Amino acid sequence: MIVAMQDHSTDEQIQNVIERMVELGFNVHRTTGAVQTILAGVGTPAHFEVTEFQVLPGVHQAYRISSQYKLAGRGFRPEGTRVTFPNGVVVGGEEIVIMAGPCSVESRDQIRLSAQQVATAGAQFLRGGAFKPRSSPYSFQGMGVEGLKIMREAADEFGLLVITEVMEISQIEPMLEYIDCFQVGARNMQNFNLLRELGHVRKPVLLKRGIAATIEEVLLSAEYILSGGNYELMLCERGIRTFETYTRNTMDISAIPVLKKLTHLPVLGDPSHGVGKRDLVPPMALAAVAAGADGLLMEMHPNPDKAMSDGAQSLFPEQLVQLVEKLRRLAPIVDRTIAPAVSQIHA
Ligand code: PEP
Ligand code: MN
Repeated sequence: MIVAMQDHSTDEQIQNVIERMVELGFNVHRTTGAVQTILAGVGTPAHFEVTEFQVLPGVHQAYRISSQYKLAGRGFRPEGTRVTFPNGVVVGGEEIVIMAGPCSVESRDQIRLSAQQVATAGAQFLRGGAFKPRSSPYSFQGMGVEGLKIMREAADEFGLLVITEVMEISQIEPMLEYIDCFQVGARNMQNFNLLRELGHVRKPVLLKRGIAATIEEVLLSAEYILSGGNYELMLCERGIRTFETYTRNTMDISAIPVLKKLTHLPVLGDPSHGVGKRDLVPPMALAAVAAGADGLLMEMHPNPDKAMSDGAQSLFPEQLVQLVEKLRRLAPIVDRTIAPAVSQIHA
C-alpha cells in the first residue's frame, strides 16, 4: 500500500499513519520530500481496508498495490490454467471451445435435436438450463433433475459434454452424476455460500459475471471457489447492465482481454445474454474470439420462435453452423484454432 500524505501534514499525523501500518503488519518505508511525505507499506497483511487510511487525518491518498485475489491472479499461474474434461476437451489451450444449446431444457425431443444440431455445427458442449433463474416467479422455472437426465442422455449420444446452471447448494449433489460442468449464473455470482461449496467439489465450474459486477468483483468471486481447492474454474463475460436499452445487456468485450491479463483462468464469452438479440450474436461472438476468449457459450434452439425462454437471442441451427465456419476462419488470425467437432474426436 502507498499512502501519500497531504502537503505539510504534521509529524503527528505521519506518525499516526505509520503506527497503524505497523500495527497491521506492514514494513513501512518513509520518503520525506520538501513538502510531502510518502509512506510505502511493504508486505501483505491478511486484512486491511485501504479506505481506513484514506480518511485518516493528514492523508491525501492511499492506494492498494497488491490485489486481494491471490489465487485468481495471473501471477499465481503465469502459464495459464487449462481445464481438462473427461473426453479430452481442454478449455484454456490453443483451441477455442464452443458450448451451445437452448436456454432451457424443455423436453426430451427438444434436447435430443439440439444435441444433434450443436454437435453437427462443431460444439463440444451441450448447454441448457434444468434449473432456471427467471426474473418472474410465473415464468417457466425449468424441468429440474428430469431435465438433467435428458441432457446427459442426449449429450452421450452425440459425444458432447454437459454444462448446466446450479442455483443453490442443495442442487450440487443431485447434479454431480449428470453433468460435466457447473454453470454459476449472473444472478448468483455473489452467492458466496454457493461459491464456497463449489470450491469443495471436484468438477469444473464456469462462473458468469454478475449484471452489475466489476471485473475485480468477478475475480474475488472466483477466489471463493479457488480457495476451497477447486482449480477447475472458468470465467464468462455475459454482458452488464448499462444505460443502453437497445441491447438486453452491454457485452463488455474489453473485459475479455482485461481478465486474460489479470487472471490465469480461461475466459469465455456469452454473446447471447450479452446482446439479447439473435442477429447481433454472431458479430459479438466473433468479437469475443478476436478479443482473446477461450470459448463461447451460446444459445441455439431447434425452433427459437417456440422457445420457452430466451427465444429472441437463440440462434437458428443453421446460423450456428455458419457462425462456427466463420470462427474457424477467424481463429488463426488470433493464433487459435476451433476445436474439432466431437463427431471427429470420436471418429
Ligand atoms: C443462461 O445461461 O441461460 C443464463 C441464465 O445466463 P445468465 O446467468 O448469464 O443470465
Ligand atoms: Mn438464457
